[in-house]
Amino acid sequence: MTRYNCLQCPGYCCSHDRIAVSDFDIQRLARHFGLSEADARERFTYRYHTAEADEQILRHHQDHIYKSVCRFFDRDARRCTVYEARPNVCRRYPYGKSCGYYTFLKFEREHQGDDEFIPSA
Ligand code: SF4
Ligand code: SF4
Repeated sequence: MTRYNCLQCPGYCCSHDRIAVSDFDIQRLARHFGLSEADARERFTYRYHTAEADEQILRHHQDHIYKSVCRFFDRDARRCTVYEARPNVCRRYPYGKSCGYYTFLKFEREHQGDDEFIPSA
C-alpha cells in the first residue's frame, strides 16, 4: 500500500525545475495534442545543456504556491492536465511506496492542526 496521497498534495513534484523527457515522451504528447513531434518539442520542452547534463526539460509556468510548475499542471485544480499522456518520469515518481514530500507535508499539517496547511516553498 502506498503511504502518500497525491489528491491531498498541492503537486510539489510537478514543480521540480528539471523534469526531463525522452523522445518517446515527446512523441506521445505530440499524438495527444495532434501535433508534429517537432512542434511538441518546441512548445512543451526546452534543451538543458551543461557540462554535466544534456536533457529536454518540460517548460514551466508561474505558480502561486511554488515558484513555478510544469506547464501541464492545472494551478487551480492542482493536477496534471495530460495524465494519460504524461511522461514516463511522472508515471514512476516517487519511485516507491512513500513520497518524502508527502511525509513532510503530513507532519507539518499534524503539527499545525490544519489539514490544508501548505509549507512555504
Ligand atoms: S509530491 Fe508526492 S504526494 Fe505530492 S503529488 Fe507528487 S508524488 Fe504525490
Ligand atoms: S506532465 Fe503532468 S505529472 Fe508530469 S510534471 Fe507535468 S503536470 Fe506533473
